Amino acid sequence: MGERIYWQDGVPLAPITSGDVPDTVDIAIIGAGFTGLSAGIHLARAGHSVAIFEAAQAGAGGSSRCGGMIGPSFHKLGLAGLAAQYGQDRAHDIQAEGLRALSMFTDFVRDEGIDCDLTMCGRFRGMATPADYDATAAEAARLHDAIGLEFHMVPQSEQHREIGSDRYFGGILYPNDGAIQPHKLIQGLVDRFIAADGQLFEGTPVTDLSRVGGTATLRHPNGTCRAGQVLIATNAYSDAATAQMRNRVIPIRVSAIATAPMDVNAVQSMSPSGRIFGETKRVFLWYRPTPDGTRMIFGGRTTGRAGRTDVCARQLMAQARDIFPNLPDETPDFIWRGQVAHTLDHAPHLGQIDGLWYAGGYGGSGITRSVFFGRQVARRMLGQPGGETAFDDLPFNPVPMRAFAPLAARIATRWYAFQDRLDAARL
Ligand SMILES: Cc1cc2nc3c(=O)[nH]c(=O)nc-3n(C[C@H](O)[C@H](O)[C@H](O)COP(=O)(O)OP(=O)(O)OC[C@H]3O[C@@H](n4cnc5c(N)ncnc54)[C@H](O)[C@@H]3O)c2cc1C
Repeated sequence: MGERIYWQDGVPLAPITSGDVPDTVDIAIIGAGFTGLSAGIHLARAGHSVAIFEAAQAGAGGSSRCGGMIGPSFHKLGLAGLAAQYGQDRAHDIQAEGLRALSMFTDFVRDEGIDCDLTMCGRFRGMATPADYDATAAEAARLHDAIGLEFHMVPQSEQHREIGSDRYFGGILYPNDGAIQPHKLIQGLVDRFIAADGQLFEGTPVTDLSRVGGTATLRHPNGTCRAGQVLIATNAYSDAATAQMRNRVIPIRVSAIATAPMDVNAVQSMSPSGRIFGETKRVFLWYRPTPDGTRMIFGGRTTGRAGRTDVCARQLMAQARDIFPNLPDETPDFIWRGQVAHTLDHAPHLGQIDGLWYAGGYGGSGITRSVFFGRQVARRMLGQPGGETAFDDLPFNPVPMRAFAPLAARIATRWYAFQDRLDAARL
């Protein structure tokens, strides 16, 4: 079964022809995902010559493969865990920045008039156990008091108004979360970058990167380019040429499927209020209706062997039918895989290593954060005020024995899935 990305179906990106790569630019960006394009727009609009080098096509990494579900991407340690590690003020600031990033993102999309099917439809997160319901309610109340998070707890007896499933022990509704069509967002960002006189070179991997004094040299298949500043925006797709990022993130594979088309009433019966969904399991499924309301998309970590998209599709379909038993047991029309970038401290990072700028490490929840970090890092590169993030002075440490990290992550996924099954068996 071949990979087909739902978002790209019928939404072809116009081919990018920025001509020959120049010998010199003010700023070079490596990677044309949300981070690189967001930064590129701000930098090019400030009057600099900016070239984005993209190994494949714009959005080919996580950005056009993602679920398109947007929210504040709260740090997984929670307020208490963060406070124990960094103190209470920093803990509040880190979680509050998630809300700031979300609102920057929605303002940006609206102000720019980007057509990416943005809808603030709200997210329902189903509780896998009664204990999850209590713990989630307590954490949400703390976030409400500390940073003004809006939420509603939905007891099990009322969950049918949010989800057509009996699978959960109630849930939490985040009314201010939303959804986009990610490939359309990429299209909108590319258009604005090009309109600002930015240059995008697709199919042009940076194969070597070095910096001596104030000048960086980027080698690519057609020659070399010198740049005053460089931004590494390669996130989970970092390679040997972008080792500053690659050595610090753990790439984890995630798969997604889009079902065959259904009657809109069938989709509405699963998401009666048009919500997007998550759940509290350790190896969790995320899912949502497509923007036209005719299919469902399901995604998550799968334990299938690398490359076996048919195995991943079957696993995701089985998990989907566990939630919605009436979902037709059909092979999905679309299956695709991608990588997310986890970090040792579960936090995203932005800064400079070896005189090279970087931004990334967003985990599985990076749409709003990458667009926000793109703007923040651009401000820092320009020497403008307002480029701070809540993560600024946290060390971005290399992953020990990095070569084995993907294997360790796969083993951890199986272990977490086993623990989820134990939790379910105890109920
Ligand atoms: C299946 C999946 C589902 C997801 N769902 C969600 C979701 O619902 N909500 C959410 O918030 N987040 C989600 N994410 C995470 C989100 O997609 C990412 O955090 C975000 O897209 C990262 O953007 P980026 O620009 O930093 O990196 P990317 O989009 O990955 O871009 C990096 C780019 O760098 C290029 N590159 C790498 N090396 C080189 C080189 N040497 N030279 C030139 N180019 C290079 C790659 O080709 C790639 O295009 C999901 C991710 C995946 C994979």
